[in-house]
Amino acid sequence: MIQCKDVSVTYPGSHTKALQTVNLTFQKGEFVCVLGKSGAGKSTFIRCLNGLQSPTEGDVIYHEQSLKKLSEAELRKIRQHTGMIFQQFNLIPRLSVMHNVLTGLFGSRSSFKNLAGLFTKEEKAAADAAIKSVGLSGFENRRVEQLSGGQKQRVGIARALVQQPTVLLGDEPVASLDPGTANQIFTLLRNMHDDLGLLTIINVHDLQLAKKYADRVIALKDGQVIFNGLPEMFGDREYDLTYGDK
Ligand code: ADP
Ligand code: MG
Repeated sequence: MIQCKDVSVTYPGSHTKALQTVNLTFQKGEFVCVLGKSGAGKSTFIRCLNGLQSPTEGDVIYHEQSLKKLSEAELRKIRQHTGMIFQQFNLIPRLSVMHNVLTGLFGSRSSFKNLAGLFTKEEKAAADAAIKSVGLSGFENRRVEQLSGGQKQRVGIARALVQQPTVLLGDEPVASLDPGTANQIFTLLRNMHDDLGLLTIINVHDLQLAKKYADRVIALKDGQVIFNGLPEMFGDREYDLTYGDK
């Protein structure tokens, strides 16, 4: 479903590679966690998967299409069905929960409609359903700035849901949350993943979360894949390799 072929990324002006010859394949139905310490290349990797970052070398194949051969319009179409959730939620604080969730539909609409804030009954019903499924019924008109961190991430997930995603990507979506809330968010993500038959790929720096929820774990170090396998195979040695200095 998504394949990375010899993907390397070198940022302009940098001497080191943020990603080095990454070869990975992801299938529909897999829930994958990507581990690695700060600077390992996790965000760069996630951004490559939906074309937000172009590889300097290699290619990403998405549903059998080479991302580097796609036009900006075709890329937008792919991103429309790729939900994305972030550590800092990337919501609009002064707007309501409903309004934030509706912005998930922007990719599929004209800019005029978006600017004018015109939404059809069906679009509002879809947003309502998404809000309900993340457990925020009753909060539709609440301004996002008045919510807790966990509730904000639920809004982020609802916004991804209205996109009717086939792929869900997360860039450390629970890194700003306390452990209990982080677990609740992962439970929600896992249930949603199973119900919708998604491909889910999430960066996380907490190994326990990865072990508890993921079907597969990938570890990055200095832009290289140093582990790719079942969570139960990720032991002390792999932990030291991933998080140690060497
Ligand atoms: P992680 O998400 O695991 O912390 P990143 O993908 O953000 O890692 O970063 C990988 C490497 O690329 C780091 O060395 C980081 O400093 C560098 N890097 C990330 N973004 C940029 C950028 N926009 N310009 C230059 N270097 C960057
Ligand atoms: Mg990062």
